[in-house]
Amino acid sequence: MDSLALHKKALVVDLHSDTVLRMKERFDFGRRDTAGSMDIPRLREGGIDLQVFACWIPAKTPRENCRVRADEMIDSLENQVKLHNNDIAVCRSATEAREIISSGRIAAFIGIENGVAIAGDLANLDHFYARGVRYMTLIHTSSSEWCISSADTTPKFEGLTDFGLDVVRRMNKLGMIIDVSHASVKVVEEVLKITTSPIIASHSCVYALCAHDRNLTDEQIKAIAKNGGVIGINFFGGYLSERWAAVVDPITDANRARIDSINAIVKGDFVKEREAFAWLFAEFDKALEKEDINVATVVDHIDYIVKLVGPDYIGLGSDFDGVYSLPNGLKDCSMMPNITKELVKRGYSETDIEQILGGNFMRVFQAVCG
Ligand SMILES: [Zn+2]
Repeated sequence: MDSLALHKKALVVDLHSDTVLRMKERFDFGRRDTAGSMDIPRLREGGIDLQVFACWIPAKTPRENCRVRADEMIDSLENQVKLHNNDIAVCRSATEAREIISSGRIAAFIGIENGVAIAGDLANLDHFYARGVRYMTLIHTSSSEWCISSADTTPKFEGLTDFGLDVVRRMNKLGMIIDVSHASVKVVEEVLKITTSPIIASHSCVYALCAHDRNLTDEQIKAIAKNGGVIGINFFGGYLSERWAAVVDPITDANRARIDSINAIVKGDFVKEREAFAWLFAEFDKALEKEDINVATVVDHIDYIVKLVGPDYIGLGSDFDGVYSLPNGLKDCSMMPNITKELVKRGYSETDIEQILGGNFMRVFQAVCG
């Protein structure tokens, strides 16, 4: 079977996008855009059947605003889904996702990125579950009062607090998937020790191929495989290849003063930041052209995990609309078939390709959420 036919036949899942951040005024998810990496027409072209929409809560959000902010993000996703209900519908279980997909629509899966969303109250987990949220990434790039981030070099405590452990137990009980991307090594260990369900690392790569704190060591990959979980390979250049930082860091250093002055103005506002730094990201892209960080680099990470633990624990976690530097051949979600093409080229069987594209995640989704 040719790779495009195989891609169309397969149930394709993307475990992580930040497109909800773009769903502001005048945004129309049904219109093919040149900005960003995702909209309904491009999801269709990319053959994506199930898309996870992460609702990201920045670490600095005041505690009393966290739940409101997450609710607002879920609202904006729901509004877009409602406007385009012939094309897309929210799924709350694997069974429901399969029904939506077989009706010719895209299944939208709601995720929360950063456990600060629950504002230290387990009742908020129940609230988000009731709203349809089916995974929560425990932490982001700063530690919280109950969970240590992979980026934290001076952690105040180890891994998870007692409350953090309670969060894991409550998620197990509710049937919400635990996502350990962004979590420290110790957190992943502690989660795996007590979880009664398979977990995911929705958007992480292989540390042995790119030594970044966001990536997973061989030990972690083996432990997640033993748990029956899934690792979604992230498409961000900085997690895929050490060549990325070697090119980008000198450009960042050379522009330090200008970057600092912009940061002082945008103050971490994601959308403003993306606009204000467009010139810098364009410079990165230009310098990275000759590096050839591309679809093959992504598939190298897949290969590595397959050799380590087999093909049953891998998925795709693009991080589209969350990262500012994407590999050649994967600049937006319409290019997803390029991954299948590369897998076919490398001699993967049809069954293994179908598992990697979505089957593995569907196994976890079914086990945790029904
Ligand atoms: Zn992330």
